[in-house]
Amino acid sequence: MKIKTRLTKKSKIKEVDFDNLEFGVDFSDHMYYVDFADGAWKEPRIEPYGPMKMYPALSTLHYGQAVFEGLKAFLGVDGKVRLFRPDKNHERYNMSCERMCIPTLSWELWFEGMKKLIEVDREWIPGKRGCSLYIRPFIFATDNFLGVRVSYTYRFMIITSPVGAYYKEGLNPVKLITSGEFVRAVRGGLGAVKTPANYAASLYPGEVAKKKGFTQVLWLDGIENRYIEEVGTMNIMFVIDGTIVTPPLEGSILPGVTRNSVISLAKHWGVPVEERKITIDEVMAEAKSGRLQEVFGTGTAAVISPVGWIQHNDDMVTIHSGEIGPMSQKLYDEITAMQYGEKPDPFGWCITL
Ligand SMILES: *Cc1c(COP(=O)(O)O)cnc(C)c1O
Repeated sequence: MKIKTRLTKKSKIKEVDFDNLEFGVDFSDHMYYVDFADGAWKEPRIEPYGPMKMYPALSTLHYGQAVFEGLKAFLGVDGKVRLFRPDKNHERYNMSCERMCIPTLSWELWFEGMKKLIEVDREWIPGKRGCSLYIRPFIFATDNFLGVRVSYTYRFMIITSPVGAYYKEGLNPVKLITSGEFVRAVRGGLGAVKTPANYAASLYPGEVAKKKGFTQVLWLDGIENRYIEEVGTMNIMFVIDGTIVTPPLEGSILPGVTRNSVISLAKHWGVPVEERKITIDEVMAEAKSGRLQEVFGTGTAAVISPVGWIQHNDDMVTIHSGEIGPMSQKLYDEITAMQYGEKPDPFGWCITL
């Protein structure tokens, strides 16, 4: 595939402090994009990262027709660059596009562009363990039109950003509070789609939670306000008496690639996994009975994020003494070891560039 490429004359890499990377702050020198118009994808391009021209009536700004993805490139101990399950992200991306009435993208336009972009910005992949090049593919509607209808034109883009650990706390456990009066998504809505609207819905409740001293919101279902859903940027898992329990994919939660990987890995190890509905009451009761051993979130950004505390109504439980548990640690170690090429990858998850 031919990609029209215009490289920057002046790299910004010297301006970046690679020893103190924060999530999503710095961007590599280039961006990849492909426009869709007249019912077809136009010529793919790589250009210097920079501002774009747009009209005030850009339909995405008004009606939110957009989809994004998130994955990472790792510099391995063998000097090779690895992507973790980019095929899964592509599959989910296209599913999201269908729900959002956005034209889907071929594997070639997705992957060849990503590969070339990483190639031209290869120096931007941090070498330090735990750091990586975060890859953000996204698409948005570009019609210059204010009527409510599906857009005719789109821009698909990939930008990349060198990142350190997602949470400043690192693998330190986070504090969650249940969603209370707020709802993120309901079945039939957009909860299973990686679209900005889900984040727009979650920002205000997230701010309320932060003011109360919590890291994130633990979303309960939008109808009965009882069943655990996810954490908004992560899926969630509970280790109860040696079994991993996680809510099923029934349309209101995001089908995480990390969630899928953790389930496969745990089963591979012989750890029982149950994808089933679980209520907040069960979680609180099992925490008090002592059978709730660990709770952790799963997502590309943090991989595994241990949960140390859950607040529900006026009740707060502490999990594993507020410290990371052995299952969370083992899953984190195993997945990151595959990503950095330190251990064999029995599932063939990593694509080496
Ligand atoms: C992206 C995302 C996740 C995690 O998915 P991964 O593929 O594991 O990164 C979980 N929940 C929501 C709402 C998300 O947007």
